[in-house]
Amino acid sequence: MLWWGLHALRTCGLVQEIILIVHPEDVDRARSLLADGPPEITEKVVCGGAARQDSVRAGLEEVTAGTHLVLVHDAARPYLRADLIAACLQAARRTGAALAALPATDTVKWAPQGPLVQRTLDRAQVWLAQTPQAFRFSLLYEAYQAAAREGFVGTDDASLVERLARPVELVPGDPQNLKITQPEDLALAELIAQVRGLAPPGLRSGLGYDLHPFGPGRPLILGGVHFEAAQGLVGHSDADVVAHAVTDAVLGAAALGDIGRHFPDTDPAYRGADSLQLLAQAMGKVRQGGWEVVNVDTVVICEQPKIAPQADRMRDNLARALGVGADRISIKGKTAEGLGFLGRGEAIACQAVALLHRLAPTSSEEAPHAHQPDR
Ligand code: MG
Repeated sequence: MLWWGLHALRTCGLVQEIILIVHPEDVDRARSLLADGPPEITEKVVCGGAARQDSVRAGLEEVTAGTHLVLVHDAARPYLRADLIAACLQAARRTGAALAALPATDTVKWAPQGPLVQRTLDRAQVWLAQTPQAFRFSLLYEAYQAAAREGFVGTDDASLVERLARPVELVPGDPQNLKITQPEDLALAELIAQVRGLAPPGLRSGLGYDLHPFGPGRPLILGGVHFEAAQGLVGHSDADVVAHAVTDAVLGAAALGDIGRHFPDTDPAYRGADSLQLLAQAMGKVRQGGWEVVNVDTVVICEQPKIAPQADRMRDNLARALGVGADRISIKGKTAEGLGFLGRGEAIACQAVALLHRLAPTSSEEAPHAHQPDR
C-alpha cells in the first residue's frame, strides 16, 4: 500500500521531495522502498509520533527550507492519482489550503448522544474529507504551532488551518481513493489495483496431462464415470486419467506441485483410491490459498470408448469435486486417428487446463514489490 502511494507521488511530475513518516519499527522497510527512487526527487524516512498529528508535525520539521507547497497524504489511501495531486496543489497555490473531499451521497444523521437521532443534516452541505491535503508550507506550519500551543487535536490537517479562520478549499475527491481500514477492505483494494494495472489480475492458469495404459481385469473409470469395457486402465489408484489431469491442472495453477507430490503412488493409502476424492482434496489445498475455479477444459484422447455420451456425467462429477457448477467444466473426446500407441488403443491420455481466480491475497506473499509497474 505504501509503495503504491509512493509510486503516484514519484511519477506525477509535481513533487520534488517525499518524506515517509512511519512507525519506528518500519523505518528499515520504508528505507528499502526508497532504495531505487528517482534521482531528481529527495526522499527521506522520518519516525512518526504517538498520534497522527505528532507524525505529520515530525514530517514538517524535515521539509527542506524554502519549500512553498506541501502535500499531506495518508498511506492508507494507496490509490492516489496524479490528477488529484495536481488539483490539490493548484487549489493550495490559489487559496493557501485545499483538500480532496467527496460530496456525501448517504443521508447524514446527527446523533451526538448515541443511538437516538437528533436530526438529519442537509447532505448537500456535507463533504467527506480525504487526503491528499495541500497547503502553503508556512500556513500549515503556523497552524501546527498554534494547535500545539493550544492543545488542539484534529482528525485532519485542514481542520488545524480552519481554526486560524483561514480559507480552505474543497477539491472534488476520487471515490476510488478509498481508505483501507478494515481487513475486508483489502478485497476491494485488490480489485481496484487490478483495474488500475497496479497488481496482476487475480487469475492463474494451470496445465495438466496424464496417461494410463489399458490392462486386463481393471474397471474403466473416466471422470468418475464407470464405462462398460472389456478392459480398464492400469494404475495404483483407480487410474482415472481425466481426474488426474484435472487435479494437476488446478494444483499447477496454484503452483502447488503435482498429484504425485500430494498423493504418492508409493503410499498404500492410495491403492485403488477414488480419484475424484483426491481431486476434491487437492482442491481443498488450492482453496486454502484463496483460489477458486473459474473453468476447466479437458481433452480425452482415445479410440475407445466414445466420450461424448458420458461427457455430461463426467462434468457433473468433476464439478462436484471442484465445488463449482457443471457449466464451468468442459469434457471433449478426441481420437488419435489410429496413429501411435493411442491410436492402437493401448492407452488413454487426457489434457486439462484450469483457470483459477482469487479476489485478494491471503498472505504476505503478494507484497507490492512483486509487481512494481516500472520494473
Ligand atoms: Mg495418473
